[in-house]
Amino acid sequence: MTDARPPAAPLLDVRDLRVEFRTRDGVARAVNGVSYHVRPGETLAVLGESGSGKSVTAQAVMGILDSPPARVTGGRVLFHGRDLLTLPESERRRLRGARMAMVFQDALSALNPVMTVGDQLAEMFTVHRGASRREARARAVELMDRVRIPAARARARDYPHQFSGGMRQRIMIAMAIALEPELLIADEPTTALDVTVQAQIMDLLAELRHEYTMGMVLITHDLGVVAEAADRIAVMYAGRIVESAPVHALYERPAHPYTRGLLDSAPGLERRGGELYAIPGTPPGLTRVPAGCAFHPRCPRARDVCRTDVPPAHPVPPHGRESACHFWKETLDDVR
Ligand code: SF4
Repeated sequence: MTDARPPAAPLLDVRDLRVEFRTRDGVARAVNGVSYHVRPGETLAVLGESGSGKSVTAQAVMGILDSPPARVTGGRVLFHGRDLLTLPESERRRLRGARMAMVFQDALSALNPVMTVGDQLAEMFTVHRGASRREARARAVELMDRVRIPAARARARDYPHQFSGGMRQRIMIAMAIALEPELLIADEPTTALDVTVQAQIMDLLAELRHEYTMGMVLITHDLGVVAEAADRIAVMYAGRIVESAPVHALYERPAHPYTRGLLDSAPGLERRGGELYAIPGTPPGLTRVPAGCAFHPRCPRARDVCRTDVPPAHPVPPHGRESACHFWKETLDDVR
């Protein structure tokens, strides 16, 4: 039976976000008009190569951009309809951790090396919830148990460096979910881990998302991770979203040549008779983004218009898809 209820209102609604850096080579438009939304309980994967703007977008959403040199130059970041970009820093700080939290790739540098993990977790409850030390300690052990750290009570006395990479990532996830946030942003949460541990961490994130009905933004360069974990996907290239779609629709029939190139070059997803493809060239530096469609120097489908006119985001039927390609129809119909 299909669910006829209208979709829930977005928890996070990013609209036309722009972030710039001043560099010695000029202004880098790291995020150039990005819009996406996430509903409660939904996972949006933001996929892109390094330098595509996916992490900078997330940092701007969380309010943790390095500023200067980075600054938000336009757009809105609506969280439950309130624009976070207009809030005072004190209020944003209160939201971080409590209602929106982030998990990073490198747990070791995100955790305090001179504090036991039990104390770090307990601090979340004493500082944010006014819990007593004893109560906070008990909650910390419960959380470690929840993220499946074996012998949690004993291990709460250990320091971050005494844990494996996978266990450290579990501790960071425990810290992120401690206050039951509504939104979790996971920035390459499994990149530094081996394949088996990656799968375990992704399973844990999926379970927690379900349990807490959290909205999740999963930032990754790995199409394999996306296929398993996400409901929808936004593909970024040179500071823009070039295609967004429900995951299965995008895998079945991409509507942007860059997405098609990524799919064809992903091990296990190769289409051309089992042969792995490589997208020619490299992504542009953000101070020298090509005119027109930024992907045109690498695109097998590029024509004259692509070198002069920036493609707008075209709606792609059925509902819920968009492609920023002048030739999205031809790309969609090009079934290999
Ligand atoms: Fe390729 Fe042109 Fe589409 Fe850009 S707009 S992806 S260059 S076909």
